[in-house]
Amino acid sequence: MKPFSLDKANPEFKNDVAVKIGLEEIKPCYTCGSCSGICPVREVIEDFDPRRMIHMIVLGMKKELLSSDLIWFCCLCNSCYAVCPQGIRFSRIAKELQHMAVHEGYVDETFLKGLETINSSLQDLCRRTLFHKVKQGFWGMHTMPCWKKNTESKE
Ligand code: SF4
Ligand code: SF4
Repeated sequence: MKPFSLDKANPEFKNDVAVKIGLEEIKPCYTCGSCSGICPVREVIEDFDPRRMIHMIVLGMKKELLSSDLIWFCCLCNSCYAVCPQGIRFSRIAKELQHMAVHEGYVDETFLKGLETINSSLQDLCRRTLFHKVKQGFWGMHTMPCWKKNTESKE
């Protein structure tokens, strides 16, 4: 990622996203990485990192995020929500980022039509990767204690 100057930050971005998804604020993310550890898309697309994207929102990196391809890769499976100790539902955030990108002219109709054709493949990829994670006991590369606590408490 290119270096980012805070002079270019949009401090209202996190509030705009929070309002759109019906929260008073984006709850504090303490970078435990549980979301990134369980995310099936991240297994195959290394750049895709929900934890990093939440930080970009908090830092006000609106232009960088809304113009990034990455906001379109989330397959909305909610696996990250299941393990997030702060109850952050990234799928809703991803949806809102996509709406903002369309509404504010970061993508056009041609792009959206192109996405329709690959959407079912993305869902299929997501399903397959999650299936493998289930077979491994939901145990991916991530081993942070809070992730263990969340998964163990559900057993
Ligand atoms: S909802 Fe999106 S970010 Fe969360 S685990 Fe699924 S694909 Fe990854
Ligand atoms: S699981 Fe939740 S608290 Fe942990 S890094 Fe992801 S969003 Fe932040």
